[in-house]
Amino acid sequence: MSAAALMSVEQAIDRLLTMAEAHRIEDSEAVPLSAARQRVLANDLVATLDLPPWPNSAMDGYALNVDGWDGEPLSVSQQVFAGHAPEALALGTCVRIFTGAPVPPGANCVEMQENTEVLDDGRIRFTQPLSAGSNIRPQGQENRVGDVLLRAGKRLGPFELAVAAAQGCTHVQVVRRPRVALLSTGDELVDPGTPLKPGSIYNSNRTLLNHWLSALGCEVIDAGILPDEPRQTRLKLEQLQQAADLMLSTGGVSAGDADCLGQVLRECGTPLLWKLSIKPGKPLTVGRFGRVPVIGLPGNPTSALVTFGLLARVYLLRIQGVEDLEPLSFPVRLGFAWPKPGSRREYLRAKLEAGQAVLYPNQSSGVLLSATWADGLVEVPEGCTLAEGDTARFIPFRELF
Ligand code: AMP
Ligand code: MG
Repeated sequence: MSAAALMSVEQAIDRLLTMAEAHRIEDSEAVPLSAARQRVLANDLVATLDLPPWPNSAMDGYALNVDGWDGEPLSVSQQVFAGHAPEALALGTCVRIFTGAPVPPGANCVEMQENTEVLDDGRIRFTQPLSAGSNIRPQGQENRVGDVLLRAGKRLGPFELAVAAAQGCTHVQVVRRPRVALLSTGDELVDPGTPLKPGSIYNSNRTLLNHWLSALGCEVIDAGILPDEPRQTRLKLEQLQQAADLMLSTGGVSAGDADCLGQVLRECGTPLLWKLSIKPGKPLTVGRFGRVPVIGLPGNPTSALVTFGLLARVYLLRIQGVEDLEPLSFPVRLGFAWPKPGSRREYLRAKLEAGQAVLYPNQSSGVLLSATWADGLVEVPEGCTLAEGDTARFIPFRELF
């Protein structure tokens, strides 16, 4: 297959996103904050409270009104702690106040205790010039009632969930989890816990994708291991399409005789894309079986990792309504040379060391260990050579979760 016939990563992402739009999950559910991490907000989160709800002190110190005050020491008329409601400021006095306590009505300034002195008669002398408004966090400084705090489609992490908690929410309305049927194909595969037969290997993709899918908010339907046999492959896809929003498989999508998944999808389904300008991961296959989308990742563990991270991930986020799909990436200085241009876009497992990217010595697509060593992927465009010291785009792995 010539390079010209391969589909670019961008075009493949476009097609995946178009398919995702047609399969958006419309159902939503209310989930307690404690269980809502990595889920996607179904509705805008609108503030029902001003934050702060009332002006409060940013310091431990004294509250007073500086308008018309002559700078003389003031007697202390009350103490206000955080969590207690103050009375109005008595004329010609100040108030002992602590961080987070409501500022008494009538006070317009808080002075920190370090800039005060307690006189023998108990009055407070202020040692520095004061101005109205200082050390007071005004009501609504962070947000006002009615403000949209988080937009529908936002992925929920600790920060977003804490914002919901600050509004007094116990639950958030999130998009139903996509149900993903996870299939591993290959006669050679055996699950851990079973003795290895001659020629067999342990199934690692299942564990990789099971965790990764959960991290992207999906519910995994573990569909086990599928032998390299077309009839069983077709039957399995027929059976799974009832239960799944997506069928995600690994293996069996190259052009070999035993690569049944791709064959079945092309013969009995609607193929959407096959053969990408990407290394590792060229055989990635996407289509529909019946009305259910199928993403067939290549079987080599790092091919599965790269194609899931760069392509399947955006599909899974978009069906949940996520808009912000682009992983954060940045240019890095290369601590290696890339003298031979490749016909496909290449993603290299690399670590950031002393401000530059260094390569895992074995970039073979079978070497899963490279991913535990690396911090992310260096992108080398098609037909490109690079010298040590040049820069290239780096995508940290953690951005892909
Ligand atoms: P395939 O894409 O089916 O041609 O598989 C490519 C390579 O990946 C072969 O060496 C397979 O043995 C290996 N492989 C396929 N599936 C898995 C899996 N689930 N876990 C680990 N290795 C796999
Ligand atoms: Mg195979």
